[in-house]
Amino acid sequence: MKDDSQENPKSSSKKSLANNSIDIYAVQCVKCYKWRVVDTQEEYEEIRSKFTEEPYVCSRKPGISCKDTADIEYDASRTWVIDKPNIPKTPEGFKRSLVLRKDFSKLDAYYISPSGKKMRTRTEVAAFLEANPELKGVSIEDFSFHCPKVMEDTVPEYVEKKITGGGSANKKMKMSKDSD
Ligand SMILES: [Zn+2]
Repeated sequence: MKDDSQENPKSSSKKSLANNSIDIYAVQCVKCYKWRVVDTQEEYEEIRSKFTEEPYVCSRKPGISCKDTADIEYDASRTWVIDKPNIPKTPEGFKRSLVLRKDFSKLDAYYISPSGKKMRTRTEVAAFLEANPELKGVSIEDFSFHCPKVMEDTVPEYVEKKITGGGSANKKMKMSKDSD
């Protein structure tokens, strides 16, 4: 998908993470760049799916304008991941989940069908839709396995330490091999 080129944080939505899954959804106003918390995953997906045609502004939140202080600040007090804009809204009855890998390297996406079947790839979704023709109006185009990008500057310090430690261990192994 061409979406890869659209990594401008100002035009995309961000989420924050806790316990390896998303706990807060936030969207950035295109006018004042403040972050506004969005209450539900459904509302967040609705905004994200139309981000280019309907850019988000503070006034979309009832009683709020650009003059009000931000709901949440982008900082390292929590880990942030940036979504690409215009990811299709999850079809009704399905659930889309994102899980952060333990090393904070990336997220993995999966869908859960109305009957509880877990699907991790487009091939699995295609097979599921073919086997369930009664799901009219739901197409493979409604599913996206694009995952938000983990913002390195918000990854907790203990994770970075672990990664650095692994790197030096590798070096040691190489060195001992060289000296043989
Ligand atoms: Zn604003």
